[in-house]
Amino acid sequence: MLYESTRGRTDRVGAALAIREGIAPDGGLYVPETLPKLDAAMITGFANATYQERAEQILIQYLEEFTPAEVNYCVNAAYNQRKFDDPEIAPVRALGDGSYILELWHGPTYAFKDMALQVLPYLLTLSVKKTGGASETVILVATSGDTGKAALEGFRDVPGTRIIVFFPNEGVSEVQKRQMVTQEGRNTYVVAVEGNFDDAQAGVKEIFTDQELSERLKTRGFEFSSANSINWGRLLPQIVYYFSAHAALLKEGAVQPGERINFAVPTGNFGNILAGYYAREMGLPVKKLILAANANNVLTEFVRTGVYDRRRPFYKTVSPSMDILISSNLERLLYELTGRDALRIGAWMQELKENGVYSVDAGTRVRVQDVFWSDWAGDEPALSAIKRTYSRYGYLLDPHTAVARAVYERYRSDTGDAATTVVVSTASPFKFSRDVARALLDDEVANSRDEFVLLDLLAEHTGWPVPPGLRGLDSKPVRHRRVVRREEMKDAVAEILGV
Ligand SMILES: *Cc1c(COP(=O)(O)O)cnc(C)c1O
Repeated sequence: MLYESTRGRTDRVGAALAIREGIAPDGGLYVPETLPKLDAAMITGFANATYQERAEQILIQYLEEFTPAEVNYCVNAAYNQRKFDDPEIAPVRALGDGSYILELWHGPTYAFKDMALQVLPYLLTLSVKKTGGASETVILVATSGDTGKAALEGFRDVPGTRIIVFFPNEGVSEVQKRQMVTQEGRNTYVVAVEGNFDDAQAGVKEIFTDQELSERLKTRGFEFSSANSINWGRLLPQIVYYFSAHAALLKEGAVQPGERINFAVPTGNFGNILAGYYAREMGLPVKKLILAANANNVLTEFVRTGVYDRRRPFYKTVSPSMDILISSNLERLLYELTGRDALRIGAWMQELKENGVYSVDAGTRVRVQDVFWSDWAGDEPALSAIKRTYSRYGYLLDPHTAVARAVYERYRSDTGDAATTVVVSTASPFKFSRDVARALLDDEVANSRDEFVLLDLLAEHTGWPVPPGLRGLDSKPVRHRRVVRREEMKDAVAEILGV
């Protein structure tokens, strides 16, 4: 199977090149030329398969240049009990009201980014080998928190790679910062940037496109690549857990073969929920994809009106990984829903860039609404969903998942749809201990203690164990102390690589 660009001005390429390049040369995103359809027997059969077997069968549909043995190797190297603390990898929990929670945070960094970033390094290094890339791949990442740590864990000590992560010195939580500056591994580098996330991101983009630097790198056998969510290699592994959640419900008899279910997804860059859309197109019986946004509700407005308007205030919320106004992966959805009309996509993206807004035609809007339903929840409704869910069901939500739960409750009362629904849970509640403590304990306590003390208080209060990788994080040795100004980022990269 070949991959084409959503902008239509790049030749089709194989999966390996699409993954190695990350973004198409014409500025578009790579998408598979067709979406494989799985037959009903295969989808039902997943009920008796392991997560690894489900992953293998789905990945192989999209990776023609990879042998079955290679796919098997990638999947088993990524999804195993050294990396994940639950044998089911992505377990489904019943709340008891006909709704379920899909826990995507059992990987090494306790956020759903691990689901893709544990396997991407294996896919990428094989892709580089198959396409004759440089002898060493340098992964550059700008992060607002979760992606950086997940990428570091994914690429640590992977032969043929080095990873350099830039994070905004004042823009991440205590736990997130500590997770990164204590990172182990011979090939990992973490650099704090004085500035905000946009500064770090702009700096990384400049380094990527710096011809002089990339020439110097080439002569030393280095080549840059990207681990952010526009890379097809990050999207593909996410399709698996939608099939896996459905299979788990089949297995316990919660749904019948072919019975359609809903997924409620806390959404930022539109990567997670887009994988759900692909699963639906591949034949998974999905009724509605419930898109949950926080106060940065640009996508909710889009689903309701067909107008994408980023000209609005940017809010810092208790669900920081969803604080995004430009959802890059929406471009891939629009490509499918317009019947792959690259010209129309290019025009909309141009309007977004120039005017900050575009409006899709009525036909496309109707097709969006056929699959998606959306609402948003602010900080207070999200925190009260944490409290309510804990007191009703004894289940602890993180603030991102709480946004999805709050929106799902509204969906159910607004539409009366009682279909089985899976709320996709994207982070361990302990990763955001301060806001979870604000929801459950009193504000005074939550605001005055440091996040590491709050981990223990939460554990005491709920009986839920503190994840081992977060426990003791405050006493782990700091291994990364570089702090640079925005204009020093390129020099930092050159120094790290010795070029
Ligand atoms: C990244 C992230 C999200 C948003 O996912 P998208 O794929 O960007 O829509 C939601 N919750 C958490 C905890 C995340 O880390």
